[in-house]
Amino acid sequence: MSLRYVSTRGAAPTLGFSDVLLRGLASDGGLYVPERWPEAPLAPDRPYVDLAVEVMTPFLSGEIEAATFADLVSESYTAFGHPEVAPLVELADGLWLMELFHGPTLAFKDVALQLLGRLLQFELERRGERVTIVGATSGDTGSAAIEACRDRPALDVFILHPHGRVSEVQRRQMTTVGSANVHNIAIEGSFDDCQDIVKGMFADESYRSRHRLAAINSINFARVMAQVVYYSAAAARLGGGPISFAVPSGNFGNVFAGYGAMRMGLKVDRLVVGSNRNDVLTRFFHTGRLEIRDVVPTMSPSMDIAVSSNLERLLFEALGRDGQATSALMRELRRKGAAEMPQWAMSRLRAVFSAARVDEEATSRVMAEVYARTGRLIDPHTAVGVGAALECRGDGDVPTVALSTAHPAKFPDAVFAATGRRPVLPERLADLHDRPERLCVLPNDLAAVQRFVADNAGVNA
Ligand SMILES: *Cc1c(COP(=O)(O)O)cnc(C)c1O
Repeated sequence: MSLRYVSTRGAAPTLGFSDVLLRGLASDGGLYVPERWPEAPLAPDRPYVDLAVEVMTPFLSGEIEAATFADLVSESYTAFGHPEVAPLVELADGLWLMELFHGPTLAFKDVALQLLGRLLQFELERRGERVTIVGATSGDTGSAAIEACRDRPALDVFILHPHGRVSEVQRRQMTTVGSANVHNIAIEGSFDDCQDIVKGMFADESYRSRHRLAAINSINFARVMAQVVYYSAAAARLGGGPISFAVPSGNFGNVFAGYGAMRMGLKVDRLVVGSNRNDVLTRFFHTGRLEIRDVVPTMSPSMDIAVSSNLERLLFEALGRDGQATSALMRELRRKGAAEMPQWAMSRLRAVFSAARVDEEATSRVMAEVYARTGRLIDPHTAVGVGAALECRGDGDVPTVALSTAHPAKFPDAVFAATGRRPVLPERLADLHDRPERLCVLPNDLAAVQRFVADNAGVNA
């Protein structure tokens, strides 16, 4: 029986993989999850691409031919800067780092987005369709989306960033991509202004359907699917025994994939969630209460979020896959800005999840200590995960794998401030500062951006 997907709010039609891939949010406002978690064979260690094909195939609903899928996966990961794709390095006795930053933009989002871009191109081409991807970025996610979409004939990608308010490395990673289907828009305004414009474009139904707007956001289940793989790879390399993971978390997509891996049969002892000062997740696991607060900027900006969009998937699981209960909880959260999980559901979650908040000072301290002890530079996001691992680690001899989500050279200032060492960009990006940039500066004005997208989408199709 091929796998179908259900909505976390229980009131949308079930779909197969390809429809979930193109759909985004379910029609009832929920997120798609597989109707059951397939079993992953407890794999012996093997090349990453082979493991990836094996772990992901049951999710495809039988809709993509085996050889085609194997090609897409292989192309996605041969472009990585390390032959193991996601190498493990031992940091201290029983504490490992899994480096997820060897992709084109030096952050873990490449692991999923490199495959997602190829899957989208494949499916749209098969249907004879094309879409226009529109997104806003405060710096980090835009480049991963651009690298995922560049040079794919079925896609145009427009990424808005606040003019003059992203770091030079981040800007150049977006603006030096020379592909004709990539469009960078610098908005004369803040990141919130950029987000408001994107929301405005999606809210305008007739504009949206005329230009076939689509998002590449973290709620796409294909991203979760691709992330399950490295949890399996870590377990396979460490011998298949019980293992804990520590994950710096923002939208909860990464660590939810760890939960999925566990549901597929991986022997997971603890899933440790690390938050920065924006600690909605840590408060949730400690109190059972979800509460939206204002976001404060930190040195780990990819985790500066008010509500974690993927958490809904976990709530659905903890509530016994009750779509009505999940829907009621999410409505309450939206209405009151806070909602409470039942205690029985929290007990289920606490059997697996631990959480810790790692503030700015502790993040710097972890970067400094890791450097002093091992000579290794880690980025501030990774440091939040390592800090949480150290705080929540049991005293058993279960190994802990802390996921390293960004290359230190993406956040050179924070790393330098903590360690006195300036991380260098990998060889293949060494000429980043010499490459020509291409971007268009536009006023903070929805109509101006809509016009620009209309004029530039599909002109190279
Ligand atoms: C996006 C991101 C995170 C957070 O991942 P989520 O899946 O949103 O929890 C952590 N670190 C880095 C470097 C990121 O880019």
